[in-house]
Amino acid sequence: MTVEKAIYLKPKKEVSILRRHPWVFSGAIRAIEGAVQAGDLVAVHANKGRLLGYGHYSPGASIAVRMLTFNDEEIIDQDWWNLKVRSAVDMRKQLGLIGVEGNSICRLIHAEGDGASGLIVDFYDRVAVIQTHSAGMREALDSIKEALIHSLGEELVGIYNKSAKLLRKLRIEAEDGWIYGAAPDDWNPLEYGGAFEIDILLGQKTGFFVDQRENRALLGRLSEGKNVLNVFSYTGGFSVAALLGGAAKVDSLDSSSRALELAQINAEANGFGKDVHGCIEADAMEYLKSGVAGYDIVVLDPPAFAKSVSARHKAVQGYKRINSRALESMKAGSLLFTFSCSQAVDDRLFTHTVISAAIQAEREVQILHRLHQPPDHPVSAFHPEGSYLKGLVIRVN
Ligand code: SAH
Repeated sequence: MTVEKAIYLKPKKEVSILRRHPWVFSGAIRAIEGAVQAGDLVAVHANKGRLLGYGHYSPGASIAVRMLTFNDEEIIDQDWWNLKVRSAVDMRKQLGLIGVEGNSICRLIHAEGDGASGLIVDFYDRVAVIQTHSAGMREALDSIKEALIHSLGEELVGIYNKSAKLLRKLRIEAEDGWIYGAAPDDWNPLEYGGAFEIDILLGQKTGFFVDQRENRALLGRLSEGKNVLNVFSYTGGFSVAALLGGAAKVDSLDSSSRALELAQINAEANGFGKDVHGCIEADAMEYLKSGVAGYDIVVLDPPAFAKSVSARHKAVQGYKRINSRALESMKAGSLLFTFSCSQAVDDRLFTHTVISAAIQAEREVQILHRLHQPPDHPVSAFHPEGSYLKGLVIRVN
């Protein structure tokens, strides 16, 4: 492919690219050739000139180039996008997440995990929601849209672009909005038979935390007859799963009244009234201080405490505090579902942190399950940082 714009790396900085890691940090660049602009496709060369592949350029960002291909003969055109999206869609079909009874919510494209650094697409019953995290993906929006239409055919009726907030952080002006069709009148996003009202426009991320599907299903299987407290509930994903699993009573706790309103709507949409589903608008840490001995199962799914490696230490302290607070008052035999979605806190560190929390709370605990993100959030073997969601199910003795 002839790409006139090029960057040259400093000596030895090609090593990670040769191992197919998709990020080129700004400090690794020795020279830039051509009038390169934000979002341009650039050829990436090693110091002595060897062509390593092509990627999207983002001036001023710490990840200066997000690689799209490591094949020097590949051409990034509409056919390339069609193939990329088709392969991602085929994988979700292979997993039984599209076109099946009872499940119409999945992640269609998971950034680096699907070879598309900077791009997220979630799919909610015939509606795709796109988040572009880079100037390059914004430039590619039309191609992405065409590729989605091409790959999904009649299974797609609307595409919403929800990238403005993310792009503004990169000082790129953008508007959110429907770029194809709209949500159908009979829109009905389902997760293992549970119906969810998804607020694409105003909700967090693309409107729903798709990544907890399998962990919610596990909670459902353990909830029969139990009292469950869902802390950081957002719109009640875990709550609905517990109720569908036969929980006696579920309380959703969040600091956002809007999230709780939707949690209530979601409980009701699945046939559960206020007698079995309660909402607690509170700060999680403050509430946990008042004790949780009345519950058989507690879920802790906080927002990412560490958004970067530099924030890791503080995040670990946060996880330790909140877990130890919960463990302190949980009754013997109860279960704690505890999660971290911080990329900078890996499995070992998270486990270690929860164990320290148990020691601090002076509780005996057993690890029953180690949980992760589901397979529609794949991790590229060359980008281990993509493994961001980790969780434990702990039995408190
Ligand atoms: N478990 C949810 C996703 C949680 S997202 C699901 O399965 O869908 C994290 C949630 O934590 C958000 O809804 C946010 O409003 C809430 N939150 C953040 N800080 C909080 C705090 N200090 N106390 C209570 N809730 C908080």
